[in-house]
Amino acid sequence: MASVRVAVRVRPLIKREKEVSAKVIIHMEGSTTSIDCNKKHLSKGTPGTGLKERGRQSFSYDFSYDSTDVGSTNFVPQEKVFKDLGCDILEAAFDGYNACVFAYGQTGSGKSHTMMGSPGDKGLIPRMCEGLFCQISEESQGDGASFRTEVSYLEIYNERVQDLLTTKKSPENRSGLKVREHPKDGPYVEDLSKHLVQNYRDIEKLLHAGKARRTTSSTGMNDVSSRSHAIFTINFTQARFDAELPCEMVSKIHLVDLAGSERADATCATGARLKEGANINKSLVTLGIVISALGGDGGGSHKGKRKKQHFIPYRDSVLTWLLKDSLGGNSKTIMIATLSPADVNYSETLSTLHYANRAKNIVNKPTVNEDSSVTVIRKLQEEIVRLKGLVEKNNQAHLSPQDLSKTLKVEEKLHKNEVKVLELTREWTNKWGEAQNILKEGRTLVGRDEASSNPDIVLHGAGLLEEHCVFENRDGVVTLIPQTGALCSVNRLETTQPCQLTQGAVIQLGRGTIFRFNHPKEAAHLREQRKSGLLSSLSLTDFSRLFHSGMDVFAVAGENGDYRQQRSSALSTTDLYGYEPGGVPRGSC
Ligand code: ADP
Ligand code: MG
Repeated sequence: MASVRVAVRVRPLIKREKEVSAKVIIHMEGSTTSIDCNKKHLSKGTPGTGLKERGRQSFSYDFSYDSTDVGSTNFVPQEKVFKDLGCDILEAAFDGYNACVFAYGQTGSGKSHTMMGSPGDKGLIPRMCEGLFCQISEESQGDGASFRTEVSYLEIYNERVQDLLTTKKSPENRSGLKVREHPKDGPYVEDLSKHLVQNYRDIEKLLHAGKARRTTSSTGMNDVSSRSHAIFTINFTQARFDAELPCEMVSKIHLVDLAGSERADATCATGARLKEGANINKSLVTLGIVISALGGDGGGSHKGKRKKQHFIPYRDSVLTWLLKDSLGGNSKTIMIATLSPADVNYSETLSTLHYANRAKNIVNKPTVNEDSSVTVIRKLQEEIVRLKGLVEKNNQAHLSPQDLSKTLKVEEKLHKNEVKVLELTREWTNKWGEAQNILKEGRTLVGRDEASSNPDIVLHGAGLLEEHCVFENRDGVVTLIPQTGALCSVNRLETTQPCQLTQGAVIQLGRGTIFRFNHPKEAAHLREQRKSGLLSSLSLTDFSRLFHSGMDVFAVAGENGDYRQQRSSALSTTDLYGYEPGGVPRGSC
């Protein structure tokens, strides 16, 4: 159990507020945020008409960030927000938990500034992505762990989901993507593109592209106000051998920049803009109802009291449906409520403070997300240990013929389990050795980042030339073509001539960059031919060694050339054919 943690952050006065000589009414001390009450600025219909004419109302949150005055010693910069909140979320992700950060507040209160920031003053999302790859690089050097990071970016606009990272312009795209529910993994967006990223630069490009596609329009309050909710999701998987056993954890991190929380009338909206407001508010209103239901009577937070099972209307809006796990479910969640310091925004600010106060009561149930095949392997291994104990005990005793036959049965079961563990571990190891470098039909240039010709695959390593080699894929027949002066070898034989590659070939480029060539179709064919014998010659230690070698893979796409399809088909069909631990795979030039 873990409560949603809530931070509030107040920004400096902006030009428009200064122009009307607005006064600062937000004060922060420690984790307490206070607001000067001012009935004069209370807009009609706002709850709180019972407030005193003057006075101060205080709220306590997990964090109160005062960013009103850059010159002040209390000023909270982006770095501090990242250190407090971002690092925590990253830690949760590396521990295998789902996590979510969402920014809530009226238009112009600083949501995008806090989440995304500006080029010279990066916000939480870019900082977290940098931090993620920093830690990945440290950990992959340390204990040979492997990582896979995929991102997606969507916006919910007028209750329709749009992919911010796709260039496809299909008709279904215009009417929005469908939200479906997976029986185990929960709600997801069908056909949302997922992008494999290797480093921060990859993410930066995608963030840029997504930001450019976000629907923005001008309203009375903020010239480029975002009228949509944006969800940037990082799917982060890590794998390693832990005491000779596979260990794989998956974590989903949602980073959410919500549309302005103000009522439509506060932004002088009419017509189409008002309709937008209504739909934007549909998600926000539902979010409010969900938060109230979870934080009030509906949450499981009241120990000892009779638990009432309240209905939580997640399905009433796209936003709450997609964030179902983040609110009252399997996730470590943080809400950042952003505030304007100005008296002219009193009503909205007060409403945000109340909203944030309710969110504190939500109790989530985060759990470590272990890969299901790894869970099976772990359980089988526990059973093996138990059976081994039984066999050992029996071996020391004088057994009757009847007991002897029982022991033989136990031994048989033990053997079967061991074979199963090896088999599953092999499949799992292959999955992780599987391709990140898909060789497309035609020519794929491999080289260094500095090359003016923009290589299709960029490598960093000793002895690599700017343009090092080309992989030519003609109907699934792949040829390595070394460029002049490039150091290339296939199965340890140096080559300067074009060389046709066979399944499992080990390719060395430069002095230390090694790949395995994977061809799913050829692998399947070979497997048919050599169906037996291989399993027993491999042990877990061999898998572990293969895994730890961190060997990357070049692969050919499957039947229809689609990357994602190929990836999943490769997961089930690739094999360790020809790989001899410590030796050289089959196949030659
Ligand atoms: P929102 O996304 O909530 O509509 P923005 O993030 O676009 O609001 O912020 C509105 C304006 O206030 C922007 O010009 C932004 O640079 C500025 N701003 C917001 N928060 C801060 C902050 N903490 N420090 C400095 N400027 C800020
Ligand atoms: Mg914004």
